[in-house]
Amino acid sequence: MIMNKKKIILTGMRPTGRLHLGHYVGALENWIKLQKEYTCYFLIADYQALGDYAEDVARIRDSVIEVALDWLSVGLDPEKNNFVIQSYVPEYAELSMLLSMITPKGMIDRNPTLKSEMLLQKDVSLGFYNYPASQVADILLSKADVVPVGDDQLPHIELTREIARKFNRIYGKIFPEPEALVGRVPRLIGIDGKAKMSKSLGNCIYLSDPEDVVIKKVNKMYTDPTRIRATDPGHIEGNVVFMYLDAFYQDKEKLQIFKNVYKNGGISDVEIKKVLSDTLNKFLQPIRERRAFYESHPAEVKKALIEGTTRSRILAQKTITEVKNAMNISKYEDLSNIKKAIEKNN
Ligand code: ATP
Ligand code: MG
Repeated sequence: MIMNKKKIILTGMRPTGRLHLGHYVGALENWIKLQKEYTCYFLIADYQALGDYAEDVARIRDSVIEVALDWLSVGLDPEKNNFVIQSYVPEYAELSMLLSMITPKGMIDRNPTLKSEMLLQKDVSLGFYNYPASQVADILLSKADVVPVGDDQLPHIELTREIARKFNRIYGKIFPEPEALVGRVPRLIGIDGKAKMSKSLGNCIYLSDPEDVVIKKVNKMYTDPTRIRATDPGHIEGNVVFMYLDAFYQDKEKLQIFKNVYKNGGISDVEIKKVLSDTLNKFLQPIRERRAFYESHPAEVKKALIEGTTRSRILAQKTITEVKNAMNISKYEDLSNIKKAIEKNN
């Protein structure tokens, strides 16, 4: 009997704070669906986070657990899948170094996501500049078939496919060419209406925000600047509240009615904001409850991290050995005795 091997997913997040609604609709929602069909490696990319937080390691340390808590609270299953701490699997860094040798610098220079992120930083570190290439190694080390991400990540997946092809051409076929899978809302805007909800822009609703905080944040959202009185006709386009309702309000027919009424000046901003904060709070309630459970059961969070990282290290070592064999390094004939002696001394 031929067993159909489960396909592999590698995806991840940087431990730079708690996760927000953008992470949910852009990525997590897909992860939750896909985790049954695929073997998933969910990477907590702490080395990658150092690229812009090297002087705030405490933040990264704390966020490793926060990200794991958020993942557990949205319903990711750490037993059937793998929560992986990047720095505990040094093979990621090793493969990153090796692949950097066949990565054209021009491809990094042209990466549109990296370019726009670099504009937000004062002194870009070499490590940050290199992060799209290091992400290539993360994906290829797991031999991932699919990478579910938000649309800002698409250039990095394209780079990954390119490098996989190039490696396979030069050294022999080892890596699959992974496909990107973008979430239902490819890029959720911020509560301030900026193009992306992002921790660094301070425009987030966090998955762990309590009810009253969600209400406050929704009340501050922009609606329609041309509307002065509740009875004025309102605009839907560019209206932050309606963009969030589009993303989170389940009953699309009813939402269309709200839109029509709003356009005719039949519902106030205060009322439509109440609809949104109720919707978000209803959506977040079960997530908050599961988070509270895991916050009071820290041993389960640790267990998830230990087991997932251990399983992933085994796979990582297998791949890195294959890579080195393919590249024909680490086994120079006349040096083999030297290597054996070094290994024995260790
Ligand atoms: P932040 O900008 O808040 O620091 P981040 O982009 O650094 O977040 P990452 O860990 O890089 O967070 O991203 C994790 C995943 O979440 C990626 O797949 C990314 O595309 C997705 N994501 C992050 N923010 C959003 C958003 N506002 N809308 C859709 N997807 C998002
Ligand atoms: Mg990012």
